[in-house]
Amino acid sequence: MSCSESSGTDCGQALENLYLFIDHEMDDASCEEIEAHIKSCSPCLDEYDLERVVKSLVLRSCSEVAPAPLRDKVLVSIRTVQVQITETYTE
Ligand SMILES: [Zn+2]
Repeated sequence: MSCSESSGTDCGQALENLYLFIDHEMDDASCEEIEAHIKSCSPCLDEYDLERVVKSLVLRSCSEVAPAPLRDKVLVSIRTVQVQITETYTE
């Protein structure tokens, strides 16, 4: 077993939480975990940088327009909940 890679967060988890992390919608403990992983994992760091660039572009272009990304985010959340409900019922 290697201790260097298993800091409690794997790539899947880090990427899953990437958007929340960028939006600062996580609690501090989770943020630290993701941040630590991103800093020690270059594929995730690349992804993080990319998302951050996209995010800043979107923010800049949306500053005078209606917040469409918020609506998309809500839709994604609803879909996630629906999937969880489906999984709960099938098991
Ligand atoms: Zn990673």
